[in-house]
Amino acid sequence: MSKRDYYEVLGVSKDAGERDIKKAYKRLAMKYHPDRTAGDEALEAKFKEVKEAYEVLTDSQKRQMYDQYGHAAFEQNGGGGHGGFGGGADFGDIFGDVFGDIFGGGGGRRQSRQQRGADLRYSLDLTLEEAVKGKDVEIKVPTWVSCKPCDGSGAKAGSKPKTCSTCHGAGQVQMRQGFFAVQQTCPTCQGTGQVISDPCDSCHGQGRVEKTKTLSVKIPAGVDTGDRIRLSGEGEAGMHGAPAGDLYVQVTVREHPIFVRDGNNLYCEVPISFTTAALGGEIEVPTLDGRANLKIPSESQTGKMFRMRGKGVKSVRSGSVGDLICKVVIETPVNLNERQKELLKELEESMSGDSKNRPKAQGFFDGVKKFFDDLTK
Ligand SMILES: [Zn+2]
Ligand SMILES: [Zn+2]
Repeated sequence: MSKRDYYEVLGVSKDAGERDIKKAYKRLAMKYHPDRTAGDEALEAKFKEVKEAYEVLTDSQKRQMYDQYGHAAFEQNGGGGHGGFGGGADFGDIFGDVFGDIFGGGGGRRQSRQQRGADLRYSLDLTLEEAVKGKDVEIKVPTWVSCKPCDGSGAKAGSKPKTCSTCHGAGQVQMRQGFFAVQQTCPTCQGTGQVISDPCDSCHGQGRVEKTKTLSVKIPAGVDTGDRIRLSGEGEAGMHGAPAGDLYVQVTVREHPIFVRDGNNLYCEVPISFTTAALGGEIEVPTLDGRANLKIPSESQTGKMFRMRGKGVKSVRSGSVGDLICKVVIETPVNLNERQKELLKELEESMSGDSKNRPKAQGFFDGVKKFFDDLTK
């Protein structure tokens, strides 16, 4: 199904100002708002269409893209799109992002008529160990790169793109409308300011070709799910030699069989025998650097947490190190032989009726007794 023209959707002219667009949107939004249309799917779709058109046409950058490339401007965005990446930190700065300012949006006026290449997103799965220690990875990214034979210009070797005769290279033309002069994207060159009469054979005048790029990426130690690393200028090459977009490497850390990570802390559950819990002792626990010993004091209850300082994850931002928190779980012994059962029965008899061995149970049963006493009052 082909999409309707945004201007047509809102019923405004191509050179409509922001006020007119807002007015048109308000009127249509009232008409098609879901609160009024009560589940009518066709009307709901209309509302969506109106909203989408409004969002594009009131954003000057998006509007310019739409004017140049139509709906295609928003379709080839590799699932990523500009700015729609959700939470997580951006680690572009860690890599001395010197190009960021040059290519960043809004900056250089001179490049505003050239459409920067799309940003790309690459999803990278890491094990917990890899995320904690950092890793150099090689990734393969299908993308667009600048065309070599024409050096990105799109014009056949030996020829050059000519300055557009309609706009004289400005990429914009002035349209007179009564008292007003309105700036519009040049219809001859679509805003590039140049026309190619003899297009390059390998890129057909686009100035870029499809290629799978191999990149080395340094993943800093301590990254977590949701973090992303920006590689400036490693996104898609722009058309006709326009600057490339950025590549975002989006990190996901896989679940670990032993540790659960929460920020910079690690959690793990360690089973201990009930005799160790009662008498105390030393147990072996896993850490990311190998095994470590943990002292269990006597009379430890199940669920007790022990903090091992500095055995967690080193923060990628602050450099501070988290802790490993071990939760001990007392395991009821199974597969007991006769002799062991004997011993336990003997223990049981020695404890029965002696509330000082089981203070918690004593407190609990006192509470239960009071509960029933109160009920029967
Ligand atoms: Zn032109
Ligand atoms: Zn070419």
